[in-house]
Amino acid sequence: MISVVYSDKFLEHDNFNHPENSERLISIMRDLKKSEIFEKIKIVSPEPADEEKILEIHSKEMVENVKRLSETGGWVDMDTYVCPGSYEIARLAAGGVVMLASEVLSGEFDAGFALVRPPGHHATRNRSMGFCLINNVALAAHIISKENKKVLIFDHDVHHGNGTQDIFYESDRVMYQSFHLSPHYPGTGDIDEVGRDGGEGYTINLPLPRGAGDKTIMDAMDEIFLPVAEQFKPDLIIVSSGFDSHYQDALGGLRLSAESFYRIIEKLRSVQPKIVCSLEGGYNLSKLGVLVLSEIYAMHGEEFNYREKVEELIYARDRIDELKKILKKYWSL
Ligand SMILES: [Zn+2]
Repeated sequence: MISVVYSDKFLEHDNFNHPENSERLISIMRDLKKSEIFEKIKIVSPEPADEEKILEIHSKEMVENVKRLSETGGWVDMDTYVCPGSYEIARLAAGGVVMLASEVLSGEFDAGFALVRPPGHHATRNRSMGFCLINNVALAAHIISKENKKVLIFDHDVHHGNGTQDIFYESDRVMYQSFHLSPHYPGTGDIDEVGRDGGEGYTINLPLPRGAGDKTIMDAMDEIFLPVAEQFKPDLIIVSSGFDSHYQDALGGLRLSAESFYRIIEKLRSVQPKIVCSLEGGYNLSKLGVLVLSEIYAMHGEEFNYREKVEELIYARDRIDELKKILKKYWSL
């Protein structure tokens, strides 16, 4: 059984002038309800994450800042708004991923998708930024890894998940794998950022040029991400599901088709079927629903016939080869 975590509360963190607004979840839920798979999934309401737990991955100053701003509403930085009540909503988003991760790990659900907002992967240990208040995925991975389990975070958002990387940069229990557009916001995720101290080799970054698409991603999955994941042997995979890497996203520049998101999940399942996806970016309201559905169908092991004809403008063979060379020090590739 596939679980989908959702709450109408997530719609209350909202700014209609901002791309990261409530319409994103509204459009996804509309398409999900129309789909045939809706009868086969269970919608679950989240519980808020404990503040004590949040403080294990974020600094007190950062949490207090979000709390204070969310009394009246305001901005953390130029990109990142806070509404009255946003701190509680962010706790609910993080709590939803934590809950889903533990339910999938225990076998209560086979896999699941956390349809949560605000997103999380740019939130570092000390700083909310990039539309993100609390790092939802990092909190779930942190809690699971404390139970002596290994977690792979796979991030397919067009932006590098600098926050997630920052939190686990010295960890060998949580691996972070990402491909992303580069140069692009937030400017991190260079190919030689591989982790530090005990975590060296456990952060994997594939920065890609504008125009790279399906073939680059599928080859990188087969030649780098999957072989390393197989050697790492995660007990759980958490996917930072950012759909701004889709070719029609206004905030992107990579050229992934809907089928790529299906294939990414299908391939990750061959390493570890216990998969939790958590919504990050993705701003094309007419496509978000079908992209989420692609991943839910893949988690369910069912075919999903939605094809787009997308041309890859640059096949980034050189980046794949360069990353393989760097990673050979840590993994057999
Ligand atoms: Zn993004």
